[in-house]
Amino acid sequence: MLAINVSQQLKEPIGSEREYDLDGPVDIDGEESPVSGHVKMMRTDRGIIVKANLTGEMKITCSRCLAEFNWPLKLDFQEEYFQTVDMVSGSRLSLPKDTGNFTIDPKHILDFREAVRQYALLSVPMKALCQEKCAGVCPECGQNLNQEPCECSMKKVDPRWAPLLKLEDKLKGKE
Ligand SMILES: [Zn+2]
Ligand SMILES: [Zn+2]
Repeated sequence: MLAINVSQQLKEPIGSEREYDLDGPVDIDGEESPVSGHVKMMRTDRGIIVKANLTGEMKITCSRCLAEFNWPLKLDFQEEYFQTVDMVSGSRLSLPKDTGNFTIDPKHILDFREAVRQYALLSVPMKALCQEKCAGVCPECGQNLNQEPCECSMKKVDPRWAPLLKLEDKLKGKE
């Protein structure tokens, strides 16, 4: 699970630390992606600071050939999660302004998944490529050129073929 009940830690003094191993699926981009790793959690005066070191992988689309491929995730982040209710009285706490919006829910569950989702999406480059030398798709016939060359590209490879190809077209036209 990528969520932890932190009610015990919230009863501990400021500065107290805990560590957990996490493992579970996270919905990153409409698809469940496996994520696992280690988190350190420290009690603060207003919640818990999380230091996460996680790895995993997600499926993304190559910007050149549009094929799906697995993108390795390496997520190292630190975030403070704010308490939303007082441990003793159970009353609602007002959240500090101008801070990140990660919170511990009223049942004292600290859920890592939203932060994982955000950091995972940030880790993907704008123009991700399935391989450094992705050949892309043929602009004429749409063939994925990583799989096999299409005939359009073969025609372009060597201009000396041009007269022969013209002849071929002519012959085809006669049939
Ligand atoms: Zn590609
Ligand atoms: Zn083509």
